[in-house]
Amino acid sequence: MRRKVIAGNWKMNNNLSESQNLITKLISGLSNEKLNSDVVICPPFTSLSEASSLAKNTVIKLGAQNMYFEENGAFTGEISAEMLKSVGCEYVILGHSERRIIFGELDQLINKKIKKALQSGLKPIFCVGETLEERESGVTEEVIKRQVTEGLKEISANEMDRIIVAYEPVWAIGTGKTATPQQAEEVHAFIRNLVLNLYSSSVAEKLVIQYGGSVKPDNAAELLSQNDIDGALVGGACLKADSFISIIKSA
Ligand code: PEP
Repeated sequence: MRRKVIAGNWKMNNNLSESQNLITKLISGLSNEKLNSDVVICPPFTSLSEASSLAKNTVIKLGAQNMYFEENGAFTGEISAEMLKSVGCEYVILGHSERRIIFGELDQLINKKIKKALQSGLKPIFCVGETLEERESGVTEEVIKRQVTEGLKEISANEMDRIIVAYEPVWAIGTGKTATPQQAEEVHAFIRNLVLNLYSSSVAEKLVIQYGGSVKPDNAAELLSQNDIDGALVGGACLKADSFISIIKSA
């Protein structure tokens, strides 16, 4: 039985005091709950250190939204895996569609980042997903297969224990359009089968595959009840404590 993981991607939202405020509300809202899932928040870099202090000894785990694959040096504006570890991060989102589309990140770069994150002891939340154009032209599986295969290149079966895959159809991110539970389940099952072919049935069975794309309190339970949906990567709805807590409780 896979334990679900609900992660909140704050994106470029919340300054330091807004972050303190949101985390404090999350901690008090979750403190007496018996949860069926792990909870991860991914604030911007500038709030990670404070988030780590506030979340210490609570159910909330910490993730970052990106990192670079080099260890250190002349990479202006970048953050290393080691830096993320040093401020208490356990997870890192890699290959988010906003990184792929706005910042031009390609599969090969994402693969280097995943490898470095794993070597450094971070758990990558590896995002894949097709655009609307790709879905409408019938190439969803082809795109997902390429992203998964390239992203996981040279990653061992042992390391797969520490990877989460997030299926995030680009057309559903921040648009209010959610994939139906059936549409999402279809792609999740496809990803699990890809991983079975790349590795083994035991690796595939253990793999946590999150769904992301306009997950809200009113659609979370049905999405999370699908066989191959093992959690959610939540954008907009994680910025309000009440709605994020309600999604967490749906798991
Ligand atoms: C995301 O950015 O990962 C995401 C799923 O966003 P939203 O929930 O706002 O669609």
